[in-house]
Amino acid sequence: MENKMNRRKFLGTTGLLGSSLLFAPSFTTASSLKTDIKPVMLGGSKAHPKGFQSWPIYGVSEEQALINTLRTGKWGRLDGHTTASFESEYAKMLGVKHSLGVSSGTAALYTMLGALDLGPGDEVIMPVYTFVATYNVITLNYALPVFIDSDIETFQIDAKKIEPAITPQTKVIMPVHIGGLPADLDTILNISKKYNLPVIEDACQAHLAEWKGKKVGTYGLGGAFSFQSSKNLNCAEGGAISSNDESFIQRCYAFHNQGQGGTSTSFAVGGSGTRGVNMRLTEFQSGLLLAQMNRLEQQACIRDKNASYLNKMLSEIPGISPAKLYDGVTMGAYHLYMFRYNPTHFAGMSLNRFLEVLNAEGVPCSAGYGPMNKSEYVQKLATNKHYLKIYGEKTMKEWLERNECPQNDKLTKQGVWLFQNMLLGSRTDMEQIVEAIRKIQKYATELNK
Ligand SMILES: *Cc1c(COP(=O)(O)O)cnc(C)c1O
Repeated sequence: MENKMNRRKFLGTTGLLGSSLLFAPSFTTASSLKTDIKPVMLGGSKAHPKGFQSWPIYGVSEEQALINTLRTGKWGRLDGHTTASFESEYAKMLGVKHSLGVSSGTAALYTMLGALDLGPGDEVIMPVYTFVATYNVITLNYALPVFIDSDIETFQIDAKKIEPAITPQTKVIMPVHIGGLPADLDTILNISKKYNLPVIEDACQAHLAEWKGKKVGTYGLGGAFSFQSSKNLNCAEGGAISSNDESFIQRCYAFHNQGQGGTSTSFAVGGSGTRGVNMRLTEFQSGLLLAQMNRLEQQACIRDKNASYLNKMLSEIPGISPAKLYDGVTMGAYHLYMFRYNPTHFAGMSLNRFLEVLNAEGVPCSAGYGPMNKSEYVQKLATNKHYLKIYGEKTMKEWLERNECPQNDKLTKQGVWLFQNMLLGSRTDMEQIVEAIRKIQKYATELNK
C-alpha cells in the first residue's frame, strides 16, 4: 500500500513521463483484486477515487507554438509555412507520401469525396456503427449512404457483408476504424481491388493504429484524421488527409481551396474539377499540432499497453467481452475502450443501471452509439424533398429496407465505452476499473433493488 501511494504521488507530480516505470511484469489476475469494499451506491467507497488524467495535455511547447505564430503575423496557410511543415511531419509519422491539413475530420472526408466528384445517384458503403460525420459527408453530396452491419465481436464493419451491398451505383467504400481499432483491411482491400472501387479510410479515431505493422489511413486511396478536441491528437478543430497518390492529393488540395491549386511548391497545380470550398487549416492549429505530435507516440504506447492489460483482466469477468482485434492488428489507437455487457451475469441489471453504478464508482463510461440507421435524423432522409426528386419514392423506401442491421441492433444494446484519456493512467488506474466492475457484479442483486 505504502509503495502504491508513493507511485501515485510520483505520477501526480511528474505526469506521464514516469508512466513507463509502471509496466514492470505483473502477475495480477482479475480474481486476486479486492472486492470486499461495498459499491458507493450501497454506502461503500469509490473503486477509483482519484479521477483520471485530464485532457488535453499541454505545456510550454504548445504555448510557444501559439505565441510564435501570433508574432509572425502570418496566421493562415496562404500566409505562412507552419501548415506545410505540419503536413510533411505528419506524413512522415504515418509513413505515407502526402498529407493535407484541413479544418476538421469531417472536412477531410468531405474533401476526399469532393475530389472523387461524388454526387447524386452515387452510393457509398459505410459501417452503421460510427459517428454521424461519416454519414453526413455522403448526404451533403446527395449520394446514398449504404449501411453495412457490424461485426458484434469487434464493433467494426462486418467486411464480409460489403460485397453483397455493391451495386453499379457504388462509387466508394468508406470503412471506419472505430474506437481507433483497425477494421478488417485485408478483406476490404480485396473487395476494392476486385470491383475497382476506391477505399477512403475514416481513421478519425485511429491516429497511429497499425494493420500488419503499417499505419491505418495509408492503405486506401486516402485516409481521414480528426484533431477535434476529444481526439487522440488535438488542435481544438482540425483534420488531415493522408494519401500515397500524388494526383489525388492535388485534387484534394484544390477542392479544399475553393477549387484552386496552391501557391506552395508541394501543391503547385491549377484547379481541377469544378467544385470547391474553403476548408483550410490555420497556422495556429498547425503549430499546436506540431507540438502535440511530440507527445503522441508515447501516449499511443501507454494507451495500447493499458488497453491490452484491460483486455486480459476484463475477459476474465463473466458477462464482460472486450472488443476483439482482428489478427492483422499490430497496434490499437484506443480512442475508445469498447466492451460488451451481458446482464445475465449481473443479476439481470440493465445496461443503464450498470453505467450509472460504474460512473458512481469513479469510472466515466457511456453506452456509445445507438443504431444510426433507426434514428429520426437518418430515417427522415427517405422523405427529404431533394432525395425524392433525385431517387424517387420507391428507391428511398427500398433504401430504408436495405439499411436493416440486425447485428448492430444487438450490439448497440450491449456496448459500453471508456475514453482515451482514462487509458493514459497507471496500472493502478486500470486495476481499479476492473475492481469497480467486479464489485458491481458481486453486489448486483442489491444494486438492482
Ligand atoms: C470525430 C470523427 C469524425 C469527424 O471529425 P471532426 O473533426 O469532428 O469533424 C469523423 N468520423 C469519425 C469516426 C469520428 O470519430
